[in-house]
Amino acid sequence: MNAQDTTRLPPVAPHAEARIPRDDQRQVAPNFITDVIDSDLREGRVTSVVTRFPPEPNGFLHVGHAKSICLNFLVAQDYGGITYLRFDDTNPETEEMRYVEAAQRDLAWLEVEPVEVRFASDYFPHLYAWAQELIRRGLAYVDSSSEEEIRQLRGTVTEPGRPGPYRERSVEENLDLFTRMNAGEFSDGAHVLRAKIDLASPNMKMRDPILYRIVHAPHYRTGDTWKVYPLYDMAHPLSDAIEGITHSLCTLEFVNNRELYDWLVGSLIDGQRPHQYEFARLVLDHTVMSKRKLLHLVREGLVSGWDDPRMPTLSAMRRRGITAAAVKDFANRVGVAKANSRTDPALLDHSIRDALNDAAPRVLAVLDPLAVELTNLAEGQVVQLEAPYWPHDVPKEGSRQVPLTREVVIERADFEMEPPRGYKRLAPGRAVRLRHGPVVRVDEVETDDAGNPTRLSCHAFLDDMGSAPEGVKVWSTVHWVSRPLGVPMTARLYGPLFDAPDPEADGANFLDHVDPGSLVENRGLVEPSVLGDDPDTRYQFERLGYFWRDPVDGRGDDLVFNRIVPLKDGYGRRAVAAGADVRSTPELSVDDERAGDRVRGAGSGGRQGASDPSREVVAAAASGAPDPARYERAER
Ligand code: ATP
Ligand code: MG
Repeated sequence: MNAQDTTRLPPVAPHAEARIPRDDQRQVAPNFITDVIDSDLREGRVTSVVTRFPPEPNGFLHVGHAKSICLNFLVAQDYGGITYLRFDDTNPETEEMRYVEAAQRDLAWLEVEPVEVRFASDYFPHLYAWAQELIRRGLAYVDSSSEEEIRQLRGTVTEPGRPGPYRERSVEENLDLFTRMNAGEFSDGAHVLRAKIDLASPNMKMRDPILYRIVHAPHYRTGDTWKVYPLYDMAHPLSDAIEGITHSLCTLEFVNNRELYDWLVGSLIDGQRPHQYEFARLVLDHTVMSKRKLLHLVREGLVSGWDDPRMPTLSAMRRRGITAAAVKDFANRVGVAKANSRTDPALLDHSIRDALNDAAPRVLAVLDPLAVELTNLAEGQVVQLEAPYWPHDVPKEGSRQVPLTREVVIERADFEMEPPRGYKRLAPGRAVRLRHGPVVRVDEVETDDAGNPTRLSCHAFLDDMGSAPEGVKVWSTVHWVSRPLGVPMTARLYGPLFDAPDPEADGANFLDHVDPGSLVENRGLVEPSVLGDDPDTRYQFERLGYFWRDPVDGRGDDLVFNRIVPLKDGYGRRAVAAGADVRSTPELSVDDERAGDRVRGAGSGGRQGASDPSREVVAAAASGAPDPARYERAER
């Protein structure tokens, strides 16, 4: 590039000299990348730390991107450096402004602030000039072979490539053709610009890689200005160079591109050059994470949109109620590795629960109501119970009034006509405590024709609120809601979107593994206190999980709650179920089976293989079955 072009390069954003943080000052735990930065700084190879997060605006960002965002932004912050948000928008056929806007919302949500927002498309004039310079120096040529011919001539890993008939074109002819390619004289694919490197290189990427191609499609930012577009391999290193990136962090699949990266910046950039480092991408079980595949799910209508709470996108996670703090905590726990591996989503759930445990007040809701009549309360009588919002181990104050009435509801799963061994909840003649309220004893059971219970008549021991009534065995505690004063609501319970840990294992089509039972909607009741709360409040519905009101559908008069995460880990139990002895935890297995039945009944009939025990346990994660382990201590 000549001096005049260089002066027109966009300036690097101002930034300070870097300093190596003490370990206790780091947000990102030391890893092989911070080791590189430390030694670069110590040995004076760099004096500042400049990183970038470079999404292609062809879809919504997902939790894998969150890993890259945390790494790029937080590492730079740790060293007093800066980070650009750069949209790598070199493919006009798939990119859109709405994806740019969505990514910016996601970054704001994660509370990371780029020093500047840049676009590779802003650099098109500079990249074009650099391409001409490569031609002038005999380092690039226009190839008029077809795609197939280029592939043939490139050779294989065991065979070197062979030169095609256009490799020795003159500089003048190359410059002329490249200009005419951009003037729109040729159709897509008629010519490409290739770097002239080494057709015998053991690295296939170095066998005269394509740098530019013709695309006749309007670009969402530059419109019809350009007819030639740089490929990633051309645009990425040179955009890094323009921005003064010191450490260009990308995922492992770009390992072989690094040699080309170095070749390009080595050929065209004087002074400090950026370097690329590769880390393992985040791959989560039970989902797919490429934007292209996620787009497929959206287009096929298999999900309600990019923000369907079952999607791994950041917008879906936000809508579901997951906090940004949980996503960052998860990214940190995953860490930065040099080798690819799959991550169990239980780790993400763990971070989500961790962020909510101290932040979510406990309230009562019932997702699968069974009517209970407290026969010794009068019609219309209301007993206000003072109920603390927080358990003993959360050091917070606060309580609300919970109304007890003659008619209440409990979970269907908390009553059994013939309780199996180990079942500690209600059954005919048994007594349990209503959470924050009296002990109740089942005196009569009404059933439908099939023998299913439809209504329990119970005596409530109102005089012994704080203690166990004399001579009554209290089996456990169950949650409940007043039937007339409870607020009707819909609870959306989400299971994994895919029924297999790796939906593409053995060449499977991931679309075939979409689980139609991954969304279950229940009509239930929630205690009336929630109506007075900020609609953004995240709750723990006791024994059921963490919930908040769906920001899209749930904020009007109809309450719709998303389950953010169940209280216990539905994936870990898969491991238990897959092992031989699920019966060794009788309370769990009882509930899992019941939950599996209900999900199969509620789903669209598409769940095949429901007899596979590991699948039933996944169903339990999506079901509304209460956690039997909660409240289980018997009172005597
Ligand atoms: P996708 O296949 O989802 O489109 P990509 O790698 O093509 O992914 P880009 O938008 O081009 O996505 O990537 C932006 C940045 O995010 C890149 O630096 C990329 O390496 C990183 N990234 C993408 N997916 C992951 C992931 N699963 N884990 C970690 N980093 C990722
Ligand atoms: Mg991509």
